[in-house]
Amino acid sequence: MRRIAIVNSRTFGVRFPDLIDRLKEYAEVEKIFVDRGLRGKALAEKLRGIHFIVASVTPYYDREFFENNSDVVLIARHGIGVDNVDLEAATEHGVLVTRVPGYRERDAVAELAVALALSAVRMVCNASKAVREGRWGDRSRIVGFNIRGKTVGIIGLGNIGSRVAEIFSRGFNAKVLTYDPYISPEKAREHGAELVSLEELLRESHIISLHVPLTPETYHMIGDKELQLMRDGVIIVNTARGELVDTNALIKALKAGKVGYAVFDVVEGEPIGADHPLLKFENVIVTPHIGANTIEGLRGMDESVVEAILDVINGKTPVGLVNTEVLDKGTRAGLSKN
Ligand code: NAD
Repeated sequence: MRRIAIVNSRTFGVRFPDLIDRLKEYAEVEKIFVDRGLRGKALAEKLRGIHFIVASVTPYYDREFFENNSDVVLIARHGIGVDNVDLEAATEHGVLVTRVPGYRERDAVAELAVALALSAVRMVCNASKAVREGRWGDRSRIVGFNIRGKTVGIIGLGNIGSRVAEIFSRGFNAKVLTYDPYISPEKAREHGAELVSLEELLRESHIISLHVPLTPETYHMIGDKELQLMRDGVIIVNTARGELVDTNALIKALKAGKVGYAVFDVVEGEPIGADHPLLKFENVIVTPHIGANTIEGLRGMDESVVEAILDVINGKTPVGLVNTEVLDKGTRAGLSKN
């Protein structure tokens, strides 16, 4: 009997049990929770006998995992980022890796990025807290700014970044700058943005929103040097990956009063506890990685994962395949290019 394990996901299938029922027509489906730091051989042993893994943002599926587990044929990420899978090792071992196609989460994450930016611009969380604490009179000190005519910098103009650019340029009449070395000026213009260097974006923007994947190149791409280039009082929005920002450098910049607000849906080393040093600052807002958490976003993600698993069971190339080279090398699932 085929076995599917939903590993460390507290959202997959929860709202849409009809999708789990669909999988159950083809396989046994079980939920497994492992320590988020479990890796390598120990993780391989824990998941022995599992053929399909529905993968959350943890644990990390490293090379040693693939070397020690010969059962898994597909890792279907329940999300867009695949930074917790060693893709090269997966490919070498014939394991298919899929992710949710970007369009499924585009609106949900982009709209959260805009919501976070607005919360900072108008100090919504602090204002609400003031009222709850009986400080209505604080209203005279709670003064934001209009977005019209301000500059918004979007780092990474892919699925999500391009939608954020559209909302700020078309909805708010902001000037939108973007830095993305892999796109053309025409593509940037299509979404209402102007393609510039990273340095120009950092110097000019009142709001900076991060939308790049986590790669060795983008790890800590916002550090001391980049923070110093930014405007005083800049608002930094991160809905992409916590590790894009050097947290220690950010804390220094917050202490120095350089950063107006840091508004994050993702944090380095997440999940974090209430004692995290970032939470000591009034001008930091953190949400617990809820970017895709809209009804439409979650249904779309769940459907993509189910579709990918059923594709493989039916001998088809799965939707959202990331390591396409695996089809040339040979897959454990017996799929090939033709
Ligand atoms: P995407 O692949 O469509 O877009 C990423 C863009 O970043 C691309 O245009 C690419 O050219 C650009 N890029 C790559 N390296 C770059 C670099 N060094 N500098 C500047 N630009 C660079 O991805 P997406 O669908 O827009 O998602 C972006 C990220 O958002 C994902 O990788 C994921 O980590 C994160 N995400 C978070 C949530 C959430 O719940 N908060 C949900 C979905 C995705």
